[in-house]
Amino acid sequence: MNRSPVIVWFRRDLRLDDNLAVIAAMESQRPIVPVFIWEPDEGGGASRGSASRVWLHDSLRALRGDLRKQGSELVIRKGVSGEELGRLVTETGAAAVYWNRRYEPGIVRRDSAIREELLEAGIEARSWNSSLLVEPQSLLNKAGRPFQVFTPFWKACLLRGFDKPAPMPGGNLKSPGAFPESVTVDELGLQPDSNWHESIRSAWDVGESSARRRLEVFAEGAVAAYSNSRDIPGVDGTSALSPHLHFGEIGPRQIAAAVSKAAGASRGAQVYLSEIGWREFAHYLLHHFPRTVDSPLKQDFERFPWEPDDEALRRWQRGETGYPIVDAGMRQLWRTGWMHNRVRMIVASVLVKHLLQPWQRGAEWFMDTLVDADLANNTLGWQWTAGCGADAAPFFRVFNPIAQGEKFDPEGDYVRRWIPELAQLPDKYIHQPWIGPPEILVQAGVTIGGNYPAPIVDHKKARARALMAYDKMRI
Ligand code: FAD
Repeated sequence: MNRSPVIVWFRRDLRLDDNLAVIAAMESQRPIVPVFIWEPDEGGGASRGSASRVWLHDSLRALRGDLRKQGSELVIRKGVSGEELGRLVTETGAAAVYWNRRYEPGIVRRDSAIREELLEAGIEARSWNSSLLVEPQSLLNKAGRPFQVFTPFWKACLLRGFDKPAPMPGGNLKSPGAFPESVTVDELGLQPDSNWHESIRSAWDVGESSARRRLEVFAEGAVAAYSNSRDIPGVDGTSALSPHLHFGEIGPRQIAAAVSKAAGASRGAQVYLSEIGWREFAHYLLHHFPRTVDSPLKQDFERFPWEPDDEALRRWQRGETGYPIVDAGMRQLWRTGWMHNRVRMIVASVLVKHLLQPWQRGAEWFMDTLVDADLANNTLGWQWTAGCGADAAPFFRVFNPIAQGEKFDPEGDYVRRWIPELAQLPDKYIHQPWIGPPEILVQAGVTIGGNYPAPIVDHKKARARALMAYDKMRI
């Protein structure tokens, strides 16, 4: 039997369960060297933002802890992935490198080059899918072209059916005689110098076991009401699994199985799974249309007359637009590294349509501040909102941030939570404090232009300006 070790190269799959690369290595009966390589500039546009780095820091610590419980270790290196893998092969005498596939265009190119190099050196190089229900390259429409509309895409996925999570072989991961040298997680320098990360960290429990617990609680509870509560940012109506999913602390096969088992064919479960479907669609589009990371899928939008304005962008980033639902969202993002989906749509729409800022600038801010920053989902979300992506909301449908607030946060619970200076306002004025009568504002301790800004633009005027810009593009 071959006794030379297998390197398991962890990437966006920071878990042990339903991790096909880990399972294959265990089944090989060979010693396993679990490895993570930090390459800050890997694959161009896929490099990680500040909030993601904080999550990654904690997630690596959690994975290392889980591996140690199995008598194993996480070998951490910093450098260019291909070069580090080459060194590790030499140091350990490994005959194989196993990993789970990723789908960002730059990463796909890099991984193919690494695979070729390993094979040329006589090293077995194998990869699996542990992060999607359906891999993008395996599905086309009847005309043999990529789907660009969600509903037929998801129908085709459902028709095909999903694999169940793979069972873990018995026993622990076998260790080699000695592990190669490793840096510590702290030595990767993933935490920012400021203490900004403290409030993000206090909002989350990172790691595989926390992800599993969160899924269990959600599948047994909130998923039943998901189809109604998912749009209400003031309640915990969604799973908040997105950062766990992004880092692969849990996989979609596990989610689909748990939700189907607990909630079966209920409407909540179906709607929830279709949101997982949007994640699949996002990865699918990124694979088939890699240029969409920074260019609009609908090429007309290359001519859109944006009006870049640093001050407007800064006020949006800081949650100082004067529209409470927008500011609450931007402050939730800054404090927790996460924002509710409904509010993401509203803030993105205001940036792009009310303020005429290029969607790429908003996407960059999200990539830097979201703990779930994900090139595929973020690109889809921004292009959807800006009206220039696949199956997108039409540009001329301009969200009214006041009406959106009143509809989805009718009693202002969400706004009060994130903008305490507005907390004492009556419901009637919570989404447009500037129309509050002076005595009510005084009573609530609100001064427009003082402790809370006046609206950055008037909604009606901004809407008219956005539609004019849209018409200009179409001439
Ligand atoms: P749930 O409602 O519990 O949904 C479960 C899972 O389904 C999510 O964790 C996520 O993986 C997936 N999902 C749900 N909605 C979407 C969607 N619209 N598109 C793709 N996947 C979805 N999601 C990210 O993970 N990373 C991003 O960088 C990101 N950027 C976004 C930017 C914009 C402008 C918009 C409008 C949306 C963005 N989303 C992004 C999608 C969505 O807002 C989040 O996935 C969701 O809010 C995460 O919360 P949750 O886990 O509670 O979601």
